[in-house]
Amino acid sequence: MDLKRIQMKIESLMGLTGHRWKNTPNGLYSINLHRVGDLEKTSGDPNVFSCTEEQLSAHLAFMKTQFDIVSLNEVKEFIAQPSLLSKRRCMTITFDDGYADNYECAFPILKSHNVPAAFFIATGLIGNSVLPWWDKVAYILKHKQLKQVQLKSWKHPVCFKGDMKLFIRHVLKEIKATGMELEQQIQELEEISAFQGLYPTPEFMDWEQLKLMHQQGMTIGAHSHHHYILSALTDEDILFELQHSKHLLEKHLGINVNAFSYPVGNQSTYNDGVIEALKSSGYELAFNFRPGVNFHIDKKRYDLHRFPIEPNMTPDDFKQMVSYAKVY
Ligand SMILES: [Zn+2]
Repeated sequence: MDLKRIQMKIESLMGLTGHRWKNTPNGLYSINLHRVGDLEKTSGDPNVFSCTEEQLSAHLAFMKTQFDIVSLNEVKEFIAQPSLLSKRRCMTITFDDGYADNYECAFPILKSHNVPAAFFIATGLIGNSVLPWWDKVAYILKHKQLKQVQLKSWKHPVCFKGDMKLFIRHVLKEIKATGMELEQQIQELEEISAFQGLYPTPEFMDWEQLKLMHQQGMTIGAHSHHHYILSALTDEDILFELQHSKHLLEKHLGINVNAFSYPVGNQSTYNDGVIEALKSSGYELAFNFRPGVNFHIDKKRYDLHRFPIEPNMTPDDFKQMVSYAKVY
């Protein structure tokens, strides 16, 4: 257990977490979700689920009592005039990737709570019949009921120990860690498991659904085209990912797109070169996937932090995560 966790544990036993929560600073808090629904029912990766529909509704009801829920347009006003934020505790609600449950499940719940949200779309997944790599891997592991996996480039096998969700997470982590071409690794996994390559239909939104959400007050931003890790690409490929996704969203939806969220989004997945490319491609702000409270948002507008929403998270879990977060 690290020092921060020990401190959190002691303070929580002493009843101090509530005190910390009450004293959380003003600023912009942002939450990030991916899929909404029952993770037991998916043929893809259950690790991409953030919460059920009931939990989303409960999260929103709670957030509304604690924060001013704002749209990305208001965030842009704070960037232009940061002093506006010093008196307010605001929150933006964001979704990444573009799964169909965002439209089918999350959108009606957002509307019923009358709150705006931003949806960051990996445009290569829209209107495409091919599953993203993480859902392919999850499908093979479940469908072939594999008990152990080891690709040639791995040092150790990953073994199934009774928890399929965890098994999938470990295999995906190993695949990401090798740095080898993803498609090549999937192909190897298909071969060693004698998988015939018949995947289920992808579960992503279509252009019409995105258009309807935008018309009803939601913001649509880009999340690259191929969902590749940008820091691993050449300058030319980075520009393609940023500009092509922007172009497709603008063309299909007839809107201006100037907000971005980094695929995967931890610190190693973007860098100064990616930020320069965002600026030169006409983006005005970008979100990472690292917890933290945003305060100096004019200076950090290409590095805005977000808190993850995890399955079965309670308001107390959320309060604890946020109470100990760094302010940027
Ligand atoms: Zn993503």
